Amino acid sequence: LYNMVQDLKGNIRVYCRIRPAFSAAAKNVVDFIGDDGSLVILDPLKPKKDGRKVFQFNRVFGPTATQDEVFKHAQPLIRSVVDGYNVCIFAYGQTGSGKTHTMCGPSGGSTEDMGINYRALNDLFQMSNRRKDIINYEIHVQMVEIYNEQVRDLLTEDFSTTKYPFIFRQIRSCTSDNGLSLPNATMHSVKSASDVLKLMKLGKVNRAVSSTAINNQSSRSHSVLTVHIQGKDTSGNILRSCLHLVDLAGSERVDKSEVTGDRLKEAQYINKSLSCLGDVITALAQKNSHIPYRNSKLTLLLQDSLGGHAKTLMFAHVSPEGDSFGETVSTLKFAQRVSTV
Ligand code: ADP
Ligand code: MG
Repeated sequence: LYNMVQDLKGNIRVYCRIRPAFSAAAKNVVDFIGDDGSLVILDPLKPKKDGRKVFQFNRVFGPTATQDEVFKHAQPLIRSVVDGYNVCIFAYGQTGSGKTHTMCGPSGGSTEDMGINYRALNDLFQMSNRRKDIINYEIHVQMVEIYNEQVRDLLTEDFSTTKYPFIFRQIRSCTSDNGLSLPNATMHSVKSASDVLKLMKLGKVNRAVSSTAINNQSSRSHSVLTVHIQGKDTSGNILRSCLHLVDLAGSERVDKSEVTGDRLKEAQYINKSLSCLGDVITALAQKNSHIPYRNSKLTLLLQDSLGGHAKTLMFAHVSPEGDSFGETVSTLKFAQRVSTV
């Protein structure tokens, strides 16, 4: 039934999530949030009738939406992974808009505040446990980051600046023979919530080491947590699928007149990979015959969970403050472009 309901809605969904304002004094651009996924924002510098912009998504989560509520609306998609569907969920938006909060949760937060990554894995454990008499599921995870079109392993135990960087050139289809999209990245078997917590911690530490080594913030790289599921039924038939959970690099545009050298190069790589992602999803939404997966490492890595029978969910994150208005509009336009509503 999950799949029937989801298929009726098409394979690309776009949700918008609005972060709570950091201060009550800041001018808030959000004017209206509809239960039907409509969103109205106001340009703080214009009179109300001129500065109104209307958007339509599959759903909009306001600043008071809880982690649990957000997860509930991603859950049917995640559950379809155990039925053999590939799924990709990613968080898009400017730095500070709440992407990491949605995917991982606040740093040092309790399990109640945990984001989609942790909840998804726990839900998959429950689903596989419920079916254990008919299908034996094995769950493995990999986690990598993509920085300047280079892919690095985040789940290796000996991640250090001396061995850094761990780069993989080989990316292939995750439904290929051994079911790995990154055959060289460390693969960990996970069986419990505590296994997941341990790995998430390792990934976080490695990402911090990495961002220090490149003298930069983690917001300049994409992080991809891939969950591989293999189910074997009583007659020995094997079903394989994967779930990609992606915390994208900040989508903010940098002023070319202000940044130079490494910062400029980095901004160009981010722009390019995010626009490639937009191009791929738009091509899929328009049912084009050519889908430009090969234009970036990100789309190449996510290829099996974008298009075909795969299901895609994008969270467009926005900050409510007036001074983010320009970035908010560009995030919402990007989201609207890839949306099929
Ligand atoms: P990003 O990953 O997009 O740069 P973060 O997820 O780090 O943004 O969010 C920026 C800050 O706002 C963090 O301190 C985070 O805990 C907080 N935050 C983001 N979204 C929410 C939310 N929905 N509720 C409460 N705090 C949030
Ligand atoms: Mg972040």
